[in-house]
Amino acid sequence: MVDGLLDRLGVPASAYTNGNHPVHTPIDGSVIASVQLEPASAVGAKIAQAQQAFEAWRTVPAPRRGELVRLFGEVLREYKADLGELVSVEAGKITQEGLGEVQEMIDICDFAVGLSRQLYGLTIASERPGHHMRESWHPLGVVGVISAFNFPVAVWAWNTTLALVCGNAVVWKPSEKTPLTALACQALFEKALAKFGDAPAGLSQVIIGDRDAGQALVDDPRVPLVSATGSTRMGREVGPRVAARFGRSILELGGNNAMILAPSADLDLAVRAVLFSAVGTAGQRCTTLRRVIVHRSVKDEVVARVKSAYGKVRIGDPREGNLIGPLIDKASYQAMQDALARARDEGGQVFGGERQLAEQYPNAYYVAPAIVEMPGQTEVVRHETFAPILYVMAYDDFDEALRLNNEVPQGLSSCIFTTDLREAERFQSAAGSDCGIANVNIGTSGAEIGGAFGGEKETGGGRESGSDAWKAYMRRQTNTVNYSRELPLAQGIVFD
Ligand code: NAD
Repeated sequence: MVDGLLDRLGVPASAYTNGNHPVHTPIDGSVIASVQLEPASAVGAKIAQAQQAFEAWRTVPAPRRGELVRLFGEVLREYKADLGELVSVEAGKITQEGLGEVQEMIDICDFAVGLSRQLYGLTIASERPGHHMRESWHPLGVVGVISAFNFPVAVWAWNTTLALVCGNAVVWKPSEKTPLTALACQALFEKALAKFGDAPAGLSQVIIGDRDAGQALVDDPRVPLVSATGSTRMGREVGPRVAARFGRSILELGGNNAMILAPSADLDLAVRAVLFSAVGTAGQRCTTLRRVIVHRSVKDEVVARVKSAYGKVRIGDPREGNLIGPLIDKASYQAMQDALARARDEGGQVFGGERQLAEQYPNAYYVAPAIVEMPGQTEVVRHETFAPILYVMAYDDFDEALRLNNEVPQGLSSCIFTTDLREAERFQSAAGSDCGIANVNIGTSGAEIGGAFGGEKETGGGRESGSDAWKAYMRRQTNTVNYSRELPLAQGIVFD
């Protein structure tokens, strides 16, 4: 299924045959390759090489560093279809979403190229005569990237393109569920390196490994920044370990994203947004819509329309024009069924959620998306189950809706559908949604790269991608220069 693809993408057969770790496609559950997992002990050597590369790369002018990323963007354009297909095969995304993920990589390349000429610092008025102050931004060092299975290529690109133009080297530990896309990214990056010509060896490396390899990256003092994307469970382990050695981390963890659906909402828009946000990527996006908080006066109509849309959505092989592909594996399916059983115990009425196509694909896990009408925000609703389960809760007044939106441990994405300006503005105000993303009349998923991406509370607080997220990949230095013949002290201190 993948040999031709990997060959075109430049991955040598030796990298994905005869390994000790089988790679499954969620499309039919079959083994499509086997890679060699690198032991934790191999990580140190890669970090050492990246450290050396960093020492050379940090003095390359930033716009020249941007040229490497520009070339990478060109390579990605050329191989978009192949890489997108590999994302579909390995992560189970439908073709449109696989291509969309590669487009997101291209977009962040463009962003980073522009950024390479805009790593601006401030000039600051000094209180002392004959002095000036400024802020300089310098590269940090080796950036460790740990990524999740559900965005197997874009998250790495968000981090790596910014890290590179900022003058850093990168060591990437992708999910053990998606090593092939990682090998393909590395092969494509090497094509860009070849065109660039004189980048230092080992500037961006990949470690095909499991959690132990990830931990070796997390614990290494030569890695000043660890950007880790995955579950809150993982972040709870990674965050304190990095902090214990005074490293920095960018944590992008689980979400539990809600829509407030107000009585004035354009219901046609809202129902379409529910559909894309709740069932896209088979409910396996960090920004997937998991809760609808709907005004009691429109609840029955909304539930009926969403159920009708759910009934029509095509489920099956993600490469064949369906809208819902498979769950990543059996454990995911089991977690979904457990959550649905728990929701029933907590008073929920479940619609959908059954396994589909089991006869055709006995080793793959396709499901009908589930809608669960809940009597309130019970315990199960407060957890992220990484599957297409949409909990629906009714509200009577807007304060209650806001409270429900915020009353979960996670804080990634949120949205409101309303045509009432007061509600929309309150939702985005300091006293409104407590999430990193708060949208009006747009669903919770499908962010653009231009904005800073990330969330609060158990989502980890990190920001990646656009806006000034680049600052996390650099160190800030305050510089004061005395061009006078005196040595005045700050705060007017006299020390003669
Ligand atoms: P996961 O936490 O199981 O694994 C993520 C990565 O962390 C993998 O590479 C894994 O090997 C590594 N890892 C796990 N434990 C580790 C440890 N102790 N030390 C170092 N590395 C460790 O997550 P997953 O199942 O691959 O992905 C789904 C989760 O990711 C969901 O919770 C989803 O919401 C979240 N996610 C968040 C974002 C975001 O931007 N906020 C984006 C995508 C996915």
